[in-house]
Amino acid sequence: MTEPHVPRQPQAFALWREAQDTRIRTPLGGIYYLLAWLLTWGFSNDPLALLAPGLIGLGVFALLLTLRLLHRLPDEQTPAALQRWLNHHWLLILSTALAWGLAHALAQTHALFSSSAIIATLSTIAFSTALAFTFSMRKKRATLALLLIYLPGLLSLALDWQARHAVLITLSFYLSYLLLALNRSHREYHNTLALELQLLDQQERLEQLSRTDSLTQLGNRYQFNSLFPVMVANAQRQSQPLSLVLLDIDFFKRINDEHGHACGDTCLSAFAERMRQNFRRDSDALLRLGGEEFGILMPNTPLEQARLLAEQFRQELEREGFEVPGATLPLTASLGVGCYDMRHDSSAEAFFKRVDDALYQAKDAGRNRLQLA
Ligand code: GH3
Ligand code: MG
Ligand code: MG
Repeated sequence: MTEPHVPRQPQAFALWREAQDTRIRTPLGGIYYLLAWLLTWGFSNDPLALLAPGLIGLGVFALLLTLRLLHRLPDEQTPAALQRWLNHHWLLILSTALAWGLAHALAQTHALFSSSAIIATLSTIAFSTALAFTFSMRKKRATLALLLIYLPGLLSLALDWQARHAVLITLSFYLSYLLLALNRSHREYHNTLALELQLLDQQERLEQLSRTDSLTQLGNRYQFNSLFPVMVANAQRQSQPLSLVLLDIDFFKRINDEHGHACGDTCLSAFAERMRQNFRRDSDALLRLGGEEFGILMPNTPLEQARLLAEQFRQELEREGFEVPGATLPLTASLGVGCYDMRHDSSAEAFFKRVDDALYQAKDAGRNRLQLA
């Protein structure tokens, strides 16, 4: 469940899970159909006299087994590809079911199989039981498979009603039980799936929570640490400009000291809201890196564009400050702005340090200003 390629979207996950389950459960059945046929043929009254049907059965079940084994899941597991794979695989399952149904009917009707017909009937019961529990993901298809396994044998018994009606009636009762069992097994499978989906959803929400700063609802430091190297690598690979803005609120300690910590908190979340209004592009990542320090990662953004946006933000902050109950607090920030440059920055860390240094220069130069890295 923690594998990286597991789809997160519910419908895609359900298909993915069904395809995996089908794939895992299918080879075993294929082997036993072949084996059951060999036993039915081998223990018949005269296997040599039954050479032609014996070999045809052998060929058919061996072929179906081979096809099941060779039918691998698609490399690219898109929902469409998985659905196609499942459709094709069910064709194999249904073909095997029909082949066994016909084999059973033959064993019931051909005089030379009289000594091994019971093997075929027992196998029919075993296969249909396994099917009802193993392939219950799809109720309609599994029901069809059950009928294909069962009906040819029942029909052949019905043709000899006088002698065989007891077996026919018993098998029919068992079929009705199997249909009920399939129904329940189908429900259970999908309940388990729903539970698994719920778990996945919770996992995702927790993941999201662990990456979000609870006060400002911006990405937190952990989110920055995982985003930053990836964005730098992308910028490098695609030769696209990646800009980074680092902001630190000026003399924030004073606000806490003079107006209280709760007021400081209000300012921090209002500051974050201002950031959201100013840096609106979906691709921009807005982060709270710590206390009163923030960052904006701007992919596909040249230095000049980042500088303009950041400067606009700084000026608006200087002009408007923050409204708190009963007062307007003057509040400014110092900013460092830089754009990733392969020639200057040997690594993501080096790039960060260059912009962080610019921020400190802005502080040293008197605060409330923007310094280019
Ligand atoms: P400078 O201009 O040099 O950045 O001065 P400053 O006072 O902003 O910087 P300093 O690093 O001295 O102090 C940062 C303050 O931010 C101290 C700390 O109490 C406050 N702070 C950090 N996190 C929070 C928070 O979550 N809520 C509140 N209310 N205050 C916070
Ligand atoms: Mg600071
Ligand atoms: Mg500060």
